Amino acid sequence: MNRVYNFSAGPSMLPLPVLEKAASELICYEDSGMSVMEMSHRSPVYDKIIKDAEAALRKLMQIPNHYKVLFLQGGASTQFAAVPLNLMKTGKADYVVTGQFSKKAYKEAQKYGEIRLVASSEDKNNTYIPRLTREDFSADADYVHICFNNTIYGTKWDYIPDTGDIPLVADLSSCILSEPVDVSKFGVIYAGAQKNMAPAGLTVVIVREDLLGNARPDTPAMLDYKLMADNDSMYNTPPCYCIYIAKLVYEWLLDMGGLEAIKAYNEKKCAVLYDYLDSQDYYHAAAEKSARSMMNVTFVTGDEDLDKKFAKEADAQGMKNLKGHRSVGGMRASIYNAMPIEGVEKLVKFMKEFAENNPKA
Ligand SMILES: *Cc1c(COP(=O)(O)O)cnc(C)c1O
Repeated sequence: MNRVYNFSAGPSMLPLPVLEKAASELICYEDSGMSVMEMSHRSPVYDKIIKDAEAALRKLMQIPNHYKVLFLQGGASTQFAAVPLNLMKTGKADYVVTGQFSKKAYKEAQKYGEIRLVASSEDKNNTYIPRLTREDFSADADYVHICFNNTIYGTKWDYIPDTGDIPLVADLSSCILSEPVDVSKFGVIYAGAQKNMAPAGLTVVIVREDLLGNARPDTPAMLDYKLMADNDSMYNTPPCYCIYIAKLVYEWLLDMGGLEAIKAYNEKKCAVLYDYLDSQDYYHAAAEKSARSMMNVTFVTGDEDLDKKFAKEADAQGMKNLKGHRSVGGMRASIYNAMPIEGVEKLVKFMKEFAENNPKA
């Protein structure tokens, strides 16, 4: 078996010990005589899996008791509609656009109410995070929506905006579990699982209890947070196997020492790449320094042909999916929790060789 370093933005690498554990019980889970994929979601065996998953996530993120944890489907993109449907009381909300996903969220919300664009970083191709204070938000907004880590552009909010009493809603798809977050600062946190938690098919929603029960009457049942919470994410069949893998990932993180420990590791890991980027001028880091993501590192050579050659040659050396998103160009190294530091060291070594072998005209 020859596993590569997979720098994909998502679906992305899973921790090897998690895959090994899943493989060892793929065909027969404990003494159930069947695979987790085959068991009823209402069985006592599965009930323990989903409850253990929630307990582990609560412990990892120190989620306060007055927040519900929901295991849902439809990807983070479904939340772009679920958020306005559940949270709008006056029909007004504030959005900050810092990349493609927050823009999609902003556009989707316009179907349901009066949506104000508070700030956007599109003027500089989303290379920075706007500085916002409480005064920037509308007093009558039902919520403020942000995307905390911008997967495509490689930027992350370096602060949590102060929205006063207005609930803050954040898409954490590509940075959840990469470091501790103060959940109590948010009304709703949501994240698709396929970046840093589990295979695609699961979306985790963490919602403050007092925000439940305000869904518009025409909200589809499957998007109604309260209905999902009242049924412990079992209103219908949940993504059973994804939740099981998520549980293994949460337990792996707890074993590693929790989110403080993984943060220290991620800081060290991304510094290998950023320190190198800052030490030379062959490659140029795309994001502004203050806005740099620990999870998605974007950089360019400034020459499209060289960028293409780079991704192709890296691929041949077992470093996969380094081609940047078409809106940024260049390269993107997604280095989620499961990417070992050795992968980033190998990448930097390759970057040095490539720069030497391909001098710019
Ligand atoms: C990947 C991603 C999405 C979209 O997730 P889906 O599960 O494909 O809907 C939304 N937001 C962010 C920040 C992402 O990284």
